[in-house]
Amino acid sequence: MTAPVSPPAAGVDVVVVGAGLSGLTAAHRLRQYGLSVRVFEASSRVGGRVSSTRVDGVHVDLGGTFVGPGQDRVIALADEVGVGRYRTYGAGENVIRWRGQRRRYRGTVPPVGASLLDVGRIQLTLDRLARTVPCGAPATAPQAAQLDAESLGSWLRRSRASSAARDLIAIAARTTWGCEPDEISLLHALHYIHQAGGLSSMLDTEGGAQEEHFVEGSHEIALRLSAALGDALTLDAPVERIASTGDGVRVTAADEVVTAGAVVVAVPPALRSRIVFAPALPPAHAQMAQRWPAGILSKAYAVYETPFWREQALSGQGLSDTGPVFITFDAGPEGADGPGVLLGFVGGVYAREWDELPPAERRARVLSSFADLFGPRALDATGYVDQRWGAEPWVGGGPTAAPGPGSVVPYAGTLAAPVGRVVWAGTETADRWTGFMDGAVRAGERAALEARALVAATARSTASTIASTTAPLTASPTGGTS
Ligand SMILES: Cc1cc2nc3c(=O)[nH]c(=O)nc-3n(C[C@H](O)[C@H](O)[C@H](O)COP(=O)(O)OP(=O)(O)OC[C@H]3O[C@@H](n4cnc5c(N)ncnc54)[C@H](O)[C@@H]3O)c2cc1C
Repeated sequence: MTAPVSPPAAGVDVVVVGAGLSGLTAAHRLRQYGLSVRVFEASSRVGGRVSSTRVDGVHVDLGGTFVGPGQDRVIALADEVGVGRYRTYGAGENVIRWRGQRRRYRGTVPPVGASLLDVGRIQLTLDRLARTVPCGAPATAPQAAQLDAESLGSWLRRSRASSAARDLIAIAARTTWGCEPDEISLLHALHYIHQAGGLSSMLDTEGGAQEEHFVEGSHEIALRLSAALGDALTLDAPVERIASTGDGVRVTAADEVVTAGAVVVAVPPALRSRIVFAPALPPAHAQMAQRWPAGILSKAYAVYETPFWREQALSGQGLSDTGPVFITFDAGPEGADGPGVLLGFVGGVYAREWDELPPAERRARVLSSFADLFGPRALDATGYVDQRWGAEPWVGGGPTAAPGPGSVVPYAGTLAAPVGRVVWAGTETADRWTGFMDGAVRAGERAALEARALVAATARSTASTIASTTAPLTASPTGGTS
């Protein structure tokens, strides 16, 4: 453990910008290292892309929800703060509405007729290509520039993917990046898939990233971390300026200036551009912030007296090739026979229209989508809530950044490498499970280590300066003094 550095008056060892899971994790670890922190959060609540509310007395996660095997860091953090997990309900058959027909099916891959084999071929090819993209270093992949120059959508067409395979991948793209396949760099998509351990691991419920939920909700992790921070956390305090002073930083937020040995910036890439850096960051940083926009993914929950789909031996998991809801889950409380909760995602092209609708119309369209999948009883919701992440000013969309073609290779050095005493966190900077809560936690932990090293280096250099200026004069071999 490194000895803490004595901060200057009104200063701390490290300032953390953003109280999402990544920033809160960084602050938590830094305090465990014995360092003092100050956390500034722009909005009036903590959690960023994790948030929660209650509908008809039932807890629902409005943002990040699911965790699965391999997401060790967020699971370890949840264990550490005492937030438990339970399995996503998955008993029974899934349902798909496809080309105007509703069908039941088992397993992950839905029955899309003769195209089923082609879906398998595309999945295998994407998984194989993804393994050529090194985790945390996509720009070093063989043919990185070519892969980056193309979109996932154009690659699908070039690979002669059937329309069914293209539509299924579009559902995956909307859920994963909040965008259409034509809008995402193929290199980024492959890197993301590799980081998540392959398409199955990324998309499956059983054995995949949707396997479990947190009992009290993912937001509870953020709430517990923030409670421990006490006065070290300030809400409604957007950081406006970060000035480097040589041996530290001066961070300005809500008319307050705090000095520190390092700053951890844990905001989504696009939001870095709202902070003025002095001196200015290298130009590629500003470019990157403009070319790594957030995707569009919104969530809607309907609460029912009972999970009526379970009576029909349906799992609550559904897919649709029409919107606005294109994928659903049973998000009911653990082990309960009631109430029932259906979760639907609205993203990409569907969210562009639906996000703009008035609340009553959004609700009507979501319930109609649920009814298409689970029958007319889905119209009789006792409660409803939705969350449009594009309407959150300090998040700007979800679930993660969706860089388009040509946006990865040129900016490879800007995402995670520290600039002087500015250290970057946030899920987009993770080298495993980027885009997920696990990636946010990993990035926060890595940033805490980097900030600790910077603070320790300052402490060493200050100590050696003090030692050299206070050391007694000794005779030198040449007879002088040194
Ligand atoms: C609809 C949706 C569904 C999702 N589903 C899942 C899922 O099932 N499983 C999963 O693992 N992940 C999921 N995710 C992704 C997951 O929620 C995110 O990866 C994770 O929460 C990101 O955390 P973060 O700390 O990196 O960023 P954020 O949560 O975005 O935190 C950044 C914080 O910085 C603050 N901020 C921004 N600018 C400033 C500033 N200038 N000064 C001070 N503060 C600032 C913001 O207000 C915010 O609180 C989902 C996300 C969404 C939106």
